[in-house]
Amino acid sequence: MALLEVKDVSKQYGRKKAMDHVSFEVAAGHIVGLIGPNGAGKSTTMRAITGLMSYSSGQITFDGQPITFSNHQALDKIGNLIEYPAIYPNLTALEHLKLYAMDTKTPADFQTLMKKTQIDGDNFGKRKAKQFSLGMKQRLGIAIALIRNPKLVILDEPMNGLDPQSVHDLRALIRELADDGVAFLISSHLLDELQKLVDDVVIINHGKIIETATMTAFFSHDKTRWLFDTSDNR
Ligand code: ATP
Repeated sequence: MALLEVKDVSKQYGRKKAMDHVSFEVAAGHIVGLIGPNGAGKSTTMRAITGLMSYSSGQITFDGQPITFSNHQALDKIGNLIEYPAIYPNLTALEHLKLYAMDTKTPADFQTLMKKTQIDGDNFGKRKAKQFSLGMKQRLGIAIALIRNPKLVILDEPMNGLDPQSVHDLRALIRELADDGVAFLISSHLLDELQKLVDDVVIINHGKIIETATMTAFFSHDKTRWLFDTSDNR
């Protein structure tokens, strides 16, 4: 059984179908890329999975437990970084971890977590978050997402705005965490941003899943090519 199962889920905003019978799975320990152009339905899908939004039909289950807008029990083992993490300018990295661990009985060990996400160096120490670069904030956001020792971490466009070195470092961090057994669902509008990282791809457009495949299979077949035209084609 897959860790996360999204089955035939639909969501409309008025007459707009943001999710149109969306189905896909995330297996334990896999890195899955949810890829599609702006407005494709990536954030809506992630918000439904994290119980932030109701959906009109279908089912979402995590570890066999249903997730709905009113049933959040399964979310205990899902960490997420949707848009920007709530980072407080006057707190240090360690103070953030302590704050986010307050309602958890068995949080991850702070020092191990800080070392793993590379927020333990001289650059962090006593510095407050207002002095962090965007890459540092993203790494802190991931450390916060890992505080409950989740089995799955959901990251919405985590590479947005990062310079190439920070993108490289973030990819290496995600790969390392996945090697430890954490599954990831990561959205992007750029296939090449995730190409080197993900095990499986889920392609979404106009709220519909166009293709799900392993990354190897996706690039080995020659019958279909997807060209994403976005409003920002940098
Ligand atoms: P982006 O990368 O631009 O965030 P996305 O793939 O995450 O795109 P969504 O944000 O999920 O796409 O949006 C899917 C569709 O639903 C879009 O057409 C969007 O305009 C619409 N939409 C999203 N949120 C709302 C809302 N609260 N009310 C009405 N329409 C919405």
